[in-house]
Amino acid sequence: MKQFTEEEKIKILSDLIAIKSVNENEIEVANYLKDLFAQYGIESTIVPVTDTRVNLVAEIGSGKPVIGISGHMDVVSAGDETEWTSDPFTLTERDGKLYGRGTNDMKAGLVNLALVMIELKENNTLANGTVRFMATTGEEVGGAGSKKLYDEGYMEDVEYLWVAEPSHDTIIYSHKGSLNLRITSIGEAAHSSMPDQGYNAINPLMKYLLEMDEKLNGDERKNEVLDKLVMSTTIFNAGNQVNSIPEKAVAEINVRTIPEFDNEEVIALFNTIADTYNQNGANIKVEVTMSLPSVFTSGQSNMVELAKELGKKHLGLDIAVKGSPGVTDASNLLRDKDETFPFMMFGPGETKMAHKTDEYVYKDYYFAFFDIYKELIISLTK
Ligand SMILES: [Zn+2]
Repeated sequence: MKQFTEEEKIKILSDLIAIKSVNENEIEVANYLKDLFAQYGIESTIVPVTDTRVNLVAEIGSGKPVIGISGHMDVVSAGDETEWTSDPFTLTERDGKLYGRGTNDMKAGLVNLALVMIELKENNTLANGTVRFMATTGEEVGGAGSKKLYDEGYMEDVEYLWVAEPSHDTIIYSHKGSLNLRITSIGEAAHSSMPDQGYNAINPLMKYLLEMDEKLNGDERKNEVLDKLVMSTTIFNAGNQVNSIPEKAVAEINVRTIPEFDNEEVIALFNTIADTYNQNGANIKVEVTMSLPSVFTSGQSNMVELAKELGKKHLGLDIAVKGSPGVTDASNLLRDKDETFPFMMFGPGETKMAHKTDEYVYKDYYFAFFDIYKELIISLTK
């Protein structure tokens, strides 16, 4: 009978925090988890995504139902490490909180998923069905890892999915999509005393961006859970000398999309409007640099109901059930699933703590989610 002690759980989390899985270093996390699974006779597969980036997939049980559990292995940069109270890559406990980069987003969730797999396997607890553990790479930079898992068919037979992203008091069952565009305007340089000799790349781009801003942010369409689409121009670069007409201007835009006004429609609109500018002398080019669709499910499932009850039982909290503006790997993993698909994001930590200096997760909640996940799988596979 295998039962992980609190010391073992802390040790494993601490080992993972010590792996600086910032920028393409997730392979070390994958190898660590692969070794851990192997110690308990669970085979796992490294799924290469690029030359340097990999996912890890492990499975226990067989047949239906197939439960997908997922978390990302990458963390964002620690930023200025001197701003941290303790070393970001040394798990440090203070006042019931576990500090370190990635404790909250989302190694506490990831470790729980892995350890639950091991206990279920070791103790032969899984009565029916399959649990597929999917650890992804590059979630923080466009979701290349989850895209690969979707493309390779790992989601085809999956009937339930949860992502252990930090959200200990709220179950998220729908979220917006995220679309990044780079817009380049090409003009012709000239001296600013004779602007007619050139073509100012800034002018059409400014007008274009403002027009797109009005069109998108002014659009009336609204999702019942996710509200309206939002667009922001977040980067604008042009010019290098005050008395020269700029020959190039580049802007970057992020759009948070909804099913009623989705990524494809937004991209088409950017292109159509760019064409009208281009017919009038501008030279504007639209590039899609990232496109993650929104996730819209009804939230009506036995999984969500059970998770709510288990949250009350183990965390002592009334768990809210909501939509969210933030994206997760589910954008890719659920590409061909419909509204009825049971999906949730629910894990130890807080969404607002993600990416912060002095990131932490509550120790009690870290332990509690182990029990929540384990009981949830047992209930769903009874
Ligand atoms: Zn995350």
